[in-house]
Amino acid sequence: MTKKRVDLHIHTAASDGQQSAHEVVQRALDRGLLAIAITDHDSVAAIDHAICAARGSGLEIIPGVELSVDDDGADVHLLGYLVNYRAPTLLREIRRFQRARYHRGQKIVDKLNQLGVDLQMETVMAIAGEAPLGRPHVADALVREEYVGSYREAFARYLGYHAPAYVPKIGLTAQEAIELIHSVQGVAVLAHPAVLGRDDLIPFLVELGLDGLEAYHVRHDTEARRHYLRLANCYGLLVTGGSDCHGTRFGQETMLGKLSVPYHCVTALKKRKRWLQSGS
Ligand code: AMP
Ligand code: FE
Ligand code: FE
Ligand code: ZN
Repeated sequence: MTKKRVDLHIHTAASDGQQSAHEVVQRALDRGLLAIAITDHDSVAAIDHAICAARGSGLEIIPGVELSVDDDGADVHLLGYLVNYRAPTLLREIRRFQRARYHRGQKIVDKLNQLGVDLQMETVMAIAGEAPLGRPHVADALVREEYVGSYREAFARYLGYHAPAYVPKIGLTAQEAIELIHSVQGVAVLAHPAVLGRDDLIPFLVELGLDGLEAYHVRHDTEARRHYLRLANCYGLLVTGGSDCHGTRFGQETMLGKLSVPYHCVTALKKRKRWLQSGS
């Protein structure tokens, strides 16, 4: 019997991914996945499109969102799964982040201009479209206007954490983000903890109500995966996993569905959601 596999971390063009919801669904079907989660940064705009595209195919769409937390200088990403993505509280917060991202984008462009890179905000916005503005859109614009030779170079020279056009983004505190996810009936999971590299924060997040760890991730090697499976077990957390695919900017094939994430992660999310709703 083929294993039931899922991919619970996918970005679409509704944030900084390159594929539309339809393309993502098609790829997931091609890969024989049973469920996918759409987890755009600060956006839930692709979820209904994915549900629509998957109708009748048997592919299950898990609504999700990836929120940025700004705590203690660490760039913590929290995934909210099975959220009520139509809830006004969530939509209001998302709109607030989107506005903040636009202003941050302007600051990044200003910095680039001061560095002698004559990039225009209009060029960046034409690439971002309706999506909340992210550094990948700026990187794409720098490549398109030939200020850099590659997407990777855009981050290395200008946009990366220690690079000269870096501007931090506003985020919620961890407590606010977990509370927001729970307030819209979602399940809160710490994204790619090995990329974050701040295991010291995990007990604190658990205290705040964190529900799970993303143990399976493209940037987690076997050792990291084992480590977070063990930690999750220790803290009574569920585990999730996904490709975190954004498209093909690095010239490779999309990573969607390339990771072997078992279906029982979805069952655990649903169980946790029921448990949270039972008021425990
Ligand atoms: P932002 O949310 O605007 O800060 O952009 C963060 C996104 O940029 C991440 O989700 C990745 O998609 C991408 N990213 C961040 N750092 C790098 C990097 N060093 N190289 C390539 N992409 C990156
Ligand atoms: Fe991203
Ligand atoms: Fe992330
Ligand atoms: Zn992501």
